[in-house]
Amino acid sequence: LPAAASNPDAAPAGGFYDAKRIREDFPILRERVGGKPLVWLDNGATTQKPKAVIDRIAWFYAHENSNIHRAAHELAARATDAYEDARATVARFLGAPSPDTIVFTRGTTEAINLVAQTWGRQNLRRGDAIILSRLEHHANIVPWVRLAEELGFSIRVAPVDDRGDIIVEDYARLLDGDVKLVAFTQVSNALGTVTPAKIMTELAHAAGALVLLDGAQSVSHMPVDVKALNPDFLALSGHKIYGPTGIGALYGRKELLDAMPPWQGGGNMIEDVTFEHIRYHGAPMRFEAGTGNIADAAGLATALDYVLALGREAICAHEHMLIAYAEHQLRAQPGVRIIGEPAQRAGVISFVVDGHDVPHVGRALSREGIAVRAGHHCAQPILRRMGVEATVRPSFGVYNTIEDVDALVRVLKAL
Ligand code: PLP
Repeated sequence: LPAAASNPDAAPAGGFYDAKRIREDFPILRERVGGKPLVWLDNGATTQKPKAVIDRIAWFYAHENSNIHRAAHELAARATDAYEDARATVARFLGAPSPDTIVFTRGTTEAINLVAQTWGRQNLRRGDAIILSRLEHHANIVPWVRLAEELGFSIRVAPVDDRGDIIVEDYARLLDGDVKLVAFTQVSNALGTVTPAKIMTELAHAAGALVLLDGAQSVSHMPVDVKALNPDFLALSGHKIYGPTGIGALYGRKELLDAMPPWQGGGNMIEDVTFEHIRYHGAPMRFEAGTGNIADAAGLATALDYVLALGREAICAHEHMLIAYAEHQLRAQPGVRIIGEPAQRAGVISFVVDGHDVPHVGRALSREGIAVRAGHHCAQPILRRMGVEATVRPSFGVYNTIEDVDALVRVLKAL
């Protein structure tokens, strides 16, 4: 393997975090757009990829490419090793007890749909309830609404206060013996709210409900350890943590995964097939029908190693500093209104500008090479709760700098 794949040069020496040096690991940050240097502040939508990840994927296709698990030849062994090592890396990254608790999926959306279509279909019926929070991304709403329409269980919504924080007392009151599952995000992609995941999980468990944690926006910004948080399921997307698109993971408690029926059927997930009867593998293979995204699983592992080498505490501290600076600068601009003031924030800031509609601000930023999200962020219920239909949303990553924030603020000043 190329040395850089497991040893990023960007690791902060002695804990000192040098974002300028980290930027050198990301080739795309040297791009110019419309003649301007690219300022990537759309990390909530997707992150850019370090060269180590790009090289790892190229290496797979140049040296290891084969289907996995099936053939008895050398390349099949290499590809299988790459895929299963990647699973072990995801497990280690999440503090999961074993690689068998990690199912590869296309991303968070597919991981949540997997839980809905397997555990949900098996365990939810009329009279039951699940709880979602008002902060959820559509990926953690739509699969449940669709299933509820079909199976007849009800959906309760944990409310959010004017700051954008979940009202934990109200959430606790929703938990009764009918509630079988609480599914909520650890970080809101629309407001940046960090939810009290540990407390909410403890309350759910005390009421006899399982917990599905949406980690799409959390795992890249803070240490996330499933042993400490104790969710029953956790979903993540590779592309939001410096890895490739089309690969993500579902962590699930092994005994739950083994008791869940398969979802899709096909090769790889069976032990024995006749026309009368099928015997399935245990988890995780029973949920991985067909040929998976092998190269990108390897790329995801490299991305997670990259994050580990930088240090999640260091990343958290750096991004916290950037967000505090950005909030301060934005508040100082007349006409700029920040949407949501959560007690704890990670990753994103949402705002609107008086007298300018959201797409207009997005276009003005884009003309200066600055990429942000301008829209509803696939989280309409929470934006409506906050009294808006859309916001401008800069979102931060390991390579962002004070200069990136200054570039954003310069455009707002001009507006
Ligand atoms: N959950 C949250 C909180 C998100 O922010 C996103 C994507 O923006 C998703 C789920 C869906 O992730 P993906 O599109 O990678 O499946």
